[in-house]
Amino acid sequence: MTCRSRFGDFFGVSQEIFDCVWKKLCNHEDTSTLYVSMEIGADPDVFNPVRDLLVDKGIKHNDNPRIAADIDKHLNGPGKIPNYGGGLGVLAGDTLKSLADCRIPVSAISLLYRKGYFSQVVDSELGQINWSQPWEPEKTPGLYLLHAPNKPDEILTIEVPFYDEHDQEISTFARVWMKLEINSRLDFFVPQFLLDFDIEPSPQWIREGAQNLYDSSSQKMKIIQRRMLGGGIIPTCRALGLTPTTVHLNEQHGVAVALLQIVDILKENLGDNYARKATDADIIAAANRVAKRIVYTIHTPVKAGHDIFESQDYRAVGHSFCQRILKTMGTQESGSDAFNMTRLAMKVNRSTNSVSRLHRDVTRKQFPAYADKITAITNGVHHLTWISKNRGELFDSFQEFNGWRRDPGVFAGAIKLADNKKFHTYLEEAWGKDNLRLIDSVNKMLRTHRNQMENTWIIPPNYLSLLDGDNSLLVPNALTIGFARRFSTYKRADLIFEDLDLLLAPIIRYSRPVNFIFAGKAHPQDEAGKKLIKAVLDCQEELYIKSRGLARLVFIPGYDMSVAKLMVAGAHVWLNSPKRPLEASGTSGMKAALNGVPNLSIIDGWWAEGYHDGQTGWKFGYEGPVDAEKLSEERKALLYKQDSQSFYQVFPEVMAIFHDPEKRSAFLRMAVMNLALNGPKFNTSRVVAEYVPRYCLNLPQSTANKLEKLRQIYRSDPDFNLESYPNK
Ligand SMILES: *Cc1c(COP(=O)(O)O)cnc(C)c1O
Repeated sequence: MTCRSRFGDFFGVSQEIFDCVWKKLCNHEDTSTLYVSMEIGADPDVFNPVRDLLVDKGIKHNDNPRIAADIDKHLNGPGKIPNYGGGLGVLAGDTLKSLADCRIPVSAISLLYRKGYFSQVVDSELGQINWSQPWEPEKTPGLYLLHAPNKPDEILTIEVPFYDEHDQEISTFARVWMKLEINSRLDFFVPQFLLDFDIEPSPQWIREGAQNLYDSSSQKMKIIQRRMLGGGIIPTCRALGLTPTTVHLNEQHGVAVALLQIVDILKENLGDNYARKATDADIIAAANRVAKRIVYTIHTPVKAGHDIFESQDYRAVGHSFCQRILKTMGTQESGSDAFNMTRLAMKVNRSTNSVSRLHRDVTRKQFPAYADKITAITNGVHHLTWISKNRGELFDSFQEFNGWRRDPGVFAGAIKLADNKKFHTYLEEAWGKDNLRLIDSVNKMLRTHRNQMENTWIIPPNYLSLLDGDNSLLVPNALTIGFARRFSTYKRADLIFEDLDLLLAPIIRYSRPVNFIFAGKAHPQDEAGKKLIKAVLDCQEELYIKSRGLARLVFIPGYDMSVAKLMVAGAHVWLNSPKRPLEASGTSGMKAALNGVPNLSIIDGWWAEGYHDGQTGWKFGYEGPVDAEKLSEERKALLYKQDSQSFYQVFPEVMAIFHDPEKRSAFLRMAVMNLALNGPKFNTSRVVAEYVPRYCLNLPQSTANKLEKLRQIYRSDPDFNLESYPNK
């Protein structure tokens, strides 16, 4: 099927390019991959090459009213698509952008959540308050509601069958929104298809499932949302003519697609009576065929990340035959009636990937039956999204970085500048500007909160908002420690505040100001996570008073990609304090590295690979073996005492290197080395290069060569045998 409308100009790529990419995705002779993710984070206010081009060329109008409306959306439309909750979604968005950069034929599928992920308001007494702010996909740049290919006047609706306890079909429908991840050369794109189930005549309980990302108000709701994603894949492909040869499951949420593909195969072989005729051997044979088309990435060893559903709950939305498959596949929890969806995903794939080397070792211990097939592809970030404008201009002006926009491997050249005084000076200047942007935005927020306090019942989250005058503001160029991530217990956001006197000792000794800037959301149903936010807020006053205003701790509510971008470039040191080995990878530290900001982190996730004997930053905390017992998320097993003590030992070094003029060049060297040693590796171009062999795609020689070059920079899994995955 071809795309009927002349969409090209409208979408920001030429019609030729649109047709060419679309054909690759819809041709039975071609190979392509479908990337499946519960969340995708790709806010246009952070990266939007179409807008950049319009601004650059001063284009504001067009005689074609459709194109004019589109230009207006890019220039003036909302900048947020709140369809992500955290690292998993941002990783998905970054990966899709790099797939487009590398010109790999991939499409992506996710859900459209009418209320997105919740918006965070923080009150200093109540802590996090959840509320939801509906957004308007219609007004969002780059997002289009698809019309039926054969009836351009009608909106496309696809039917996604659900079943009740008696296997009666429940008619359920979805609309399809498309967002193109267009690369910065505007010569390739990866389309995302977002299924919107909030339409007539889908039943009310389904439409509820289309409101909030990760709604965990009930087990049934969780099942519904996952079933919407996994069940929507085949109907979307049929409606649009997509012919993916591989399905990549980003986490197991969409794994229901495997069940439905097994059903399709049995139906084809055994006819409509397949449910009665199929033997267990038939099911397993069909599953083995399906496995050949699936690539799976597991993202966390943490329990909350894995779906275990009671068969009774599953029964209320899925066909009874699907449960027979789940039983036959051995996904039942021992001694219970529950199905473990992670185990299903582990089973039905031809490639299982973890997100760092350490995470691979942990996953092998968690799933010993599959240990042999679990490999590592360490996560990365999309460098063009995360490098600040000021840092980008700095890189543009040194020939050592020639070509960095196209090839993040170029950052290896920074090593030649590690001790270059001129580069140090320019880096400090760009860094200073980024720090000022961050500090200004925090100060603006503090003032706004102070004014709001007079008009609303909300008490501002920051102690500084309660003070008067400029005493209450942050000063630029004070050592700024950044910390931002989801507030989950294992991430231990409050670790460094375990003993305030020990934390303050070096600050008071040096008598220099320090800004601690924190941000992050706790899942609305995660009470323990919300307590962590409160615990951080509760330290502010004491830190301020005991240090006589030297130590200022600020919490920025509403963490999202634009706050992240501001923070990773504006901070002087990026802090991460999870309990090893529960942070499977972590990506915000990579964003810091690409801006030349040193990391201060537990040896966990990617930092176990990115830490190089103190050259790129600091390590602290437990770094011993990671046996099963280390996976506990109980407070008493979280090693607060031990790891915070270790932090208090390195923190004086951080103060010293930042403040001592004689050590200043050592600090700048560390910043450059983090960029030089980690920038080339921990980016999504390299991630894509490592995934593509797992996708078994036919690619033009020039693309294959480029990927080979990227793979030579870094191999996440030195044991992985590339030859065993020949490009078909
Ligand atoms: C990068 C990013 C994350 C992930 O950060 P981690 O270090 O992996 O915890 C989460 N949320 C947002 C908004 C981000 O930009």
